[in-house]
Amino acid sequence: MYNLTDINTIKRIMSRHGVTFSKALGQNFIIDADVCPMIVEKSGITEEDGVLEIGPGVGVLTQEIAKKAKKVVSLELDTRLIPVLGDTLEDFTNVEVINADVMKTDLDRLFKESFSDCRNIHVIANLPYYITSPIIMMLLESRLPLTAITVMVQKEAGERLCAEIGSRDAGAVSVAVNYYSEAEELFFVPRESFMPSPNVDSEVIKLTVREKPEFAPTDEKFFFSVVKAAFSQRRKTAANGLSSGLGMAKDKIFSALSNAGLETTVRAEKLTMEELFTLSEELYKMR
Ligand code: SAM
Repeated sequence: MYNLTDINTIKRIMSRHGVTFSKALGQNFIIDADVCPMIVEKSGITEEDGVLEIGPGVGVLTQEIAKKAKKVVSLELDTRLIPVLGDTLEDFTNVEVINADVMKTDLDRLFKESFSDCRNIHVIANLPYYITSPIIMMLLESRLPLTAITVMVQKEAGERLCAEIGSRDAGAVSVAVNYYSEAEELFFVPRESFMPSPNVDSEVIKLTVREKPEFAPTDEKFFFSVVKAAFSQRRKTAANGLSSGLGMAKDKIFSALSNAGLETTVRAEKLTMEELFTLSEELYKMR
């Protein structure tokens, strides 16, 4: 089996296939031998589980997942890497590599076709950083039968995605993540752990998908427009963002805030999940 954390091995395989790193596709491969086993261990997968991997690169994380999981399906957008993966993963019979863009793949169908004999389905990935939040939101919003999403992301993105609601770091994306899952930051990964080394550090986060959200808004779409509007003007009050984002008069916003038991000057970052939910229900009545 290839040692894919060895820089010379990666270089040799890539040059044999005439492949160079693509910055545009976020190709920073893991070269720290401790990182992939730790991601797999912390993901909590068992021998009965199926795993969707996004962006296998040359297959360093894929190998570790395949040692533990029942089945791995890896989606790689870069066509040039498909023959490379054919080489590096040849020892595994439980891995399927598909040349596809995760954002354009019918995952519901793929899960039915590939994971019907698996107990739980997980996503594990070292995500391309240019598209981290869209991928995570797509996975959560599409309500796939997922147990958890364990992914490497840029450190700042991880802090934002996992921020406690009602804290300074929270934003609309943290609320969305919290709505669908319980988020935790698992461990820090310095930039030197990758080749080529990016100019930012990373961390691994785990989103354990909730069976159902803790709050049930009358209109989910409206709830998310409220959240987006409330957080849209970070230095101003929530009322400002809500008024312009929802196109509602300030006096209506003030009434909704006070009906929800909130100050009219409150900032979105101070609001808890429950307060955001109550506020959204009050605004819904007035829209
Ligand atoms: N898993 C490998 C590792 O940890 O060393 C590579 C991770 S690298 C950060 C991200 C990978 O995602 C690259 O191989 C890139 O080509 C692939 N990728 C980028 N955009 C993608 C997309 N939309 N769908 C599927 N794969 C994508």
